[in-house]
Amino acid sequence: MEHVTTPPWAMLAYLISGVLFILALRGLSSPSTSRAGNRYGMIGMTIAVLTTLVTHFPITGISYEGPSTAIEHGFQAVPDFGAFGLILAAIALGGGIGWVTARKIAMTDMPQLVAAFHSLVGLAAVLVGWAAYLNPQAFGIVEVVNDVTTALAQTGPEGTALPMQIHPQSLIEMSLGIAIGAITFSGSVIAFLKLAGKMSGAPIMLPARHAINIVLLLAIAFFIFGFFMSQSMVDIALITALSFIIGFLLIIPIGGADMPVVVSMLNSYSGWAAAAMGFTLHNTAMIITGALVGSSGAILSYIMCKAMNRSFVSVIAGGFGAAAESGGGAAKEQRPWKRGSAEDAAFLLKEAENVIIIPGYGMAVAQAQHVLREMADTLKKEGVNVKYAIHPVAGRMPGHMNVLLAEANVPYDEVFELEDINGEFAQADVAFIIGANDVVNPAAKTDKSSPIYGMPVFDVDKAKTVMFIKRSMSGVGYSGVDNDVFYMDQTMMLLADAKKMVEEIVKSLQH
Ligand code: NDP
Repeated sequence: MEHVTTPPWAMLAYLISGVLFILALRGLSSPSTSRAGNRYGMIGMTIAVLTTLVTHFPITGISYEGPSTAIEHGFQAVPDFGAFGLILAAIALGGGIGWVTARKIAMTDMPQLVAAFHSLVGLAAVLVGWAAYLNPQAFGIVEVVNDVTTALAQTGPEGTALPMQIHPQSLIEMSLGIAIGAITFSGSVIAFLKLAGKMSGAPIMLPARHAINIVLLLAIAFFIFGFFMSQSMVDIALITALSFIIGFLLIIPIGGADMPVVVSMLNSYSGWAAAAMGFTLHNTAMIITGALVGSSGAILSYIMCKAMNRSFVSVIAGGFGAAAESGGGAAKEQRPWKRGSAEDAAFLLKEAENVIIIPGYGMAVAQAQHVLREMADTLKKEGVNVKYAIHPVAGRMPGHMNVLLAEANVPYDEVFELEDINGEFAQADVAFIIGANDVVNPAAKTDKSSPIYGMPVFDVDKAKTVMFIKRSMSGVGYSGVDNDVFYMDQTMMLLADAKKMVEEIVKSLQH
């Protein structure tokens, strides 16, 4: 039996990187510490990668250096500098692509980027699993039958090869890693296509989809068992193929407002796939990181489900937002509504005592966060009390609004979560909705047939005046449903691009 030993210094280095990853997660939990959190993560990852490179320097083979029978005492590893060069080139290429993408990506495209990156984590787990299967010696996961009698019995009289078997526990880790990785890959590709608008966000409902999924899951479990017993390539190939298919089938029926939960759930899956592979590779840092990503993704999915008042099972079962494409459309522009100008808005805002700003996806599209802060600063100088209200699923990714407001240097103590500020709308003179829509839609509270029914929303109807910035009356929010707030007596529709409208308001305020 071959044992893979990690030197004590490497264990310590992996532990340090694990601690840095925990500090990174801790830092990322608040906008004020998120930059430091990112730095911790980067240092932790650098330590982990360097440690792995040093302890797993590629070798071409073993040369004999002395009269000893033990590998440790007479044989020397011959380093393979060519393979090492390839690894460095791959790191440089991947790092370069990541660098360029991160610099160029628009904030609004972040969710699909995250989904695309998750797909790569899944694919990496599949490829590593296959590499470990095809070359188990290189991964140190083989059992060599040293006993000559057994060896002869197993290889026959000619005995061409030393009989080797992959460790039974590695077979399980490998097949689970490949299965979860493949599900993450195809699921994330679909999430990417939906979020990027390259395929319809509406759920695609196959008949008997639950039955199909259960049969597929059972088949995957069956082949994992078969693989455990036989190590056969047919089994591992079937596990891979069926997992790709089920990842695809699991995500296509999920639509509308459930996408954020799916993205974080796939994040969690990618973590578990990495952790399973960490066991196969005997890499502590990978196990720690995988478990951290897996559990934090699962916790985030849970928090988001709670924020949307949905059960995790119903999200996974899919079908939510089925009416998204058509829902409520007929009523649009048929009911009376009031249009206001930037001057009207500026006048009312100046007169107000309490203003609550609700940013949403449209603010991100228009990149209106900087001018919005300028507006708030101007109002504060006039003695107006300004607060920002952030919904947990506003925008297109968790924390989307927090990131944008932080970028515009909005003070953190002016930013409030849904449950902390929702009681204050009754005292607000103005609810200033900028590019938000679903998160203020009262249908979520009252209309059981609405695809967003059950999602907690801001009680903007309690404010004295509601200002609603959007580009046109026909535009809808992510879930595609009409919004009664447009037609309320106290609502003033400010129809324009959010940035342009707020710039106009600032101009009016300053005159
Ligand atoms: P919505 O998607 O509901 O609404 C966006 C609004 O912005 C629309 O009214 C749109 O109207 C307006 N808008 C778009 N561009 C502009 C612009 N340039 N200037 C002014 N207005 C603009 O946004 P919310 O933030 O309220 O809700 C988020 C939705 O997205 C929820 O349903 C959530 O579940 C979902 N989601 C959230 C994710 C997350 O993690 N946060 C991820 C994926 C989905 P118009 O076109 O007329 O301008």
